[in-house]
Amino acid sequence: MKCAIVYPQIETNFLKRKLFINNNSTIPFHGIGLIISYCNQNNENVDFIDARSFNNYKNFADKIKKYDLVGYSIMSVNAEKAFNLIKVNKDINKNVIICVGGVDPSIRPDIYVDNDLIDQVICGEGEIAFLNLVKMVKNNYLVEKLVFGEKIEDLDTISFIDRSLFPHETIYDYHYYPSENRLDIKMEPKNPYFTFITSRVCKYNCSFCQPVSKKIFGKKERVRTVKNFIDELKDIRRKHGMNSFSIMDDNFLQNRDWIEKFIEMYEETHMDLKFELLSRVDHIYNNRDLIPKLKDIGFFATFIGFESGSDKILKYLKKGTTAILNEKSAQILYDNKISTVASMMFGFPNETHEDYKLTIDFVSKFKKMNFVFNAYNPLPGSALYNELEEKGLIYEKSKNIRFYVFIIIPRIKHVNYFSVNWTILKCGLISSKNNFERGFRIMAFIFSNIVIIFLTLYFILYEKINDNMK
Ligand code: SF4
Repeated sequence: MKCAIVYPQIETNFLKRKLFINNNSTIPFHGIGLIISYCNQNNENVDFIDARSFNNYKNFADKIKKYDLVGYSIMSVNAEKAFNLIKVNKDINKNVIICVGGVDPSIRPDIYVDNDLIDQVICGEGEIAFLNLVKMVKNNYLVEKLVFGEKIEDLDTISFIDRSLFPHETIYDYHYYPSENRLDIKMEPKNPYFTFITSRVCKYNCSFCQPVSKKIFGKKERVRTVKNFIDELKDIRRKHGMNSFSIMDDNFLQNRDWIEKFIEMYEETHMDLKFELLSRVDHIYNNRDLIPKLKDIGFFATFIGFESGSDKILKYLKKGTTAILNEKSAQILYDNKISTVASMMFGFPNETHEDYKLTIDFVSKFKKMNFVFNAYNPLPGSALYNELEEKGLIYEKSKNIRFYVFIIIPRIKHVNYFSVNWTILKCGLISSKNNFERGFRIMAFIFSNIVIIFLTLYFILYEKINDNMK
């Protein structure tokens, strides 16, 4: 019996392929990779198929037709593409067993359960559930439609991901501009580069994000041992000559004892590699004495969500941080010269000009960071999305628009997106590195204003016509 798991991000449009599909960019392969590892260690062979490598459905059909069981790992952004591929898959082989799993099926299983082309929907973790499915199909047992994935308590028991299945990714290399005392991130490959995850579950409750990860991983935190993680680093360094890496845990710095042990054990490996990690404001502050030590062993960059300079907004987002903590942590990153990609969001229903001003003040103070400014885009399944949806505050038609890079899509009623756009422009100009970036931001501002006018009118008209027809 032949089994495969598909990453369904196919793009058949030539222009979009050129612009947006990068076969070397990070994909959420940890989930897929670990399922494949777990099946392999249990003597079941599962192939990986990256749909990004196909530029039409026919080629995909040719590849997929020999498989008897195919799993699709789906996120909300590629759900539509996954449905197309599943249809192609069933058309070419009507006996194939189709299973779906991943973030989107876990947060809205109903739409997958209702789809007749799908044989099984796995909610939550996939290792044990997918292995069971492989065995059931092999033995011709009846497949259940909806399964809640059993969790693996001891993460060390899963074999390391076979990295040869996945392309190496590109790192944003460290670059320091002494003249401006500016810490920047420069696009420069430092391959081979690999990503790692050391734990499951984020215990925080940011309303724009949770309970999505809790629905997938549950509420109890599980962490790999430091030794297991270091063994994997050494293994990949030896097999693939790893040159840099990224730790993708939502909150790598949350367990102080673990971090101290990691510093100690990693130093002993003498690997001397640059690495980046995701962090939270409070973790940077609470571990401020460990930041220089982490820097000594290679920590050079972090992605961090400050989100807002306003306590009111941080509280609304249930971020568990404050404006003053944002400033203290930003200062720690500045002092330690850690390249920082800082996320700021705008466009919440209760956000006022005063709140925007507080955020602008924060950006002005730490303008040498690499800021990412976004209009808030409600994540389906998150608490805030559900709240806005219940109040009827999300434009129905905006839900179909997935594309939002660089331009602002008006998604929430009563939010003044012109103010959002204006604030993003101001923040962008304050923190821009050079005239090229300033020019780009001005272009994005003009383009976004046009998009806001047209889409808002379209969304309002669509809802009015719909209301009248009821
Ligand atoms: S935004 Fe980050 S810290 Fe907050 S709940 Fe999500 S993963 Fe956790």
